[in-house]
Amino acid sequence: MTIFVSHSKYDKDIRQFFSEIFAISGVKASYMEFEDLDGKYAGFEIANKIKPMIGGAQAVFVLLGKGVLQPTTQTPEFTHNWINFEVGVAAGSNKRVWVFEDFNNFIKFPIPYVTDYARFNLGDDEHIKIYRELIENIFAKKISMKPTWTITCKLCHAEYNVWDGQETLNCPVCRRAIVIKPI
Ligand SMILES: [Zn+2]
Repeated sequence: MTIFVSHSKYDKDIRQFFSEIFAISGVKASYMEFEDLDGKYAGFEIANKIKPMIGGAQAVFVLLGKGVLQPTTQTPEFTHNWINFEVGVAAGSNKRVWVFEDFNNFIKFPIPYVTDYARFNLGDDEHIKIYRELIENIFAKKISMKPTWTITCKLCHAEYNVWDGQETLNCPVCRRAIVIKPI
């Protein structure tokens, strides 16, 4: 049971937070670090980790953080492009794309394909527990869970589940503010 985690390596606090969530969830997180590629072509490596129906990732988790918007580097890693590529590979393989974002840190970076959206408070132990259980139930135990809402964004028409219980959000696809009206 593997989840491919799409993120910026500069968002260390968010990555640490999710490492704790994954820790005893029964689900393995696969973090792609471009430094570890050892000369291999990232496009193939990523596609091979996500695509296969057997042995590939069950879903892609996108962790939105400041590093996604403004990589604190001038090295040509093209974080933006890689995240969108990973999302595209997931969409093309019928895998779910979950977008996670800090309640206190709105990241104005649109994700073109989203099936699930959830916010958290960074460092909140309760949220670690809640999301660990959710991930364990859905991906390790294969229990079907009910999201807080399943919505269609009135502005961009994207359809996705919302898991954090709030009635307002910035749509992860178009990033515009919406008030949830359940379908
Ligand atoms: Zn939208």
